[in-house]
Amino acid sequence: MNAPAPVNLFIATRNLHKAGEIRAILGEDIRYSTLDDYPGAPGVIEDASTFAGNAMKKAVELARWLAAGISNFRFQISDCAFVLADDSGLEVDVLNGAPGVHSARFAAMDRSGDNLAANSTDAENNAKLLRLLQDVPFGKRKARFRCVISLVEVHRSISVPEPRVFDGVCEGRIEFMPRGRNGFGYDPLFVPDGFEQTFAELGEDVKNRLSHRARALEKLKASLR
Ligand code: IMP
Repeated sequence: MNAPAPVNLFIATRNLHKAGEIRAILGEDIRYSTLDDYPGAPGVIEDASTFAGNAMKKAVELARWLAAGISNFRFQISDCAFVLADDSGLEVDVLNGAPGVHSARFAAMDRSGDNLAANSTDAENNAKLLRLLQDVPFGKRKARFRCVISLVEVHRSISVPEPRVFDGVCEGRIEFMPRGRNGFGYDPLFVPDGFEQTFAELGEDVKNRLSHRARALEKLKASLR
């Protein structure tokens, strides 16, 4: 009997940390690629007002582009292939849910006054968050990471199937100073509920068990089973 064809999963990101977490959570039975493997892939403007809107837009546009055969496929179009797009960010209660969908460009928006500014560095975003929260006491620093994953199958036909959507949330609070060296983004400032260390101190094994991304991917795995 032939072994089943491997699933090809195109992760719609250039963020190596994000892609690494997704691979670690989904396991190595899958053949992965990312935007870095397809330099010609179109840039998708993340202008939706929700994580779900942006995740679906990324997944659908990239699935269409792959299906149109513009790129050099690493897989045959007859193989089982999916695009997975993750849109995620931090919501801080006392900031009315900011930075939210603007998490990646939180600091850059001040410079350009533009919601679609290029991304700022993690250090700039963390410095802005700490500045905004400098007078906010311990009990009022509640926040959560939210992740929405969209999965779209790549078909040869022009029509792209409806994207499937999975979400995950991780509740916690914002620290007063960055701590730890692991992870990315706001990890050095985020302490998940039930812990005293930040995600950047807890490290990838713990983070990948309880993070917003892990929870969304668990739902995805359950639905594929
Ligand atoms: P996206 O790539 O447009 O989804 O932007 C996600 C942004 O949200 C990142 O640049 C980070 O600033 C933040 N973010 C999302 N997930 C995480 C995480 O797991 N840890 C820390 N920051 C995150």
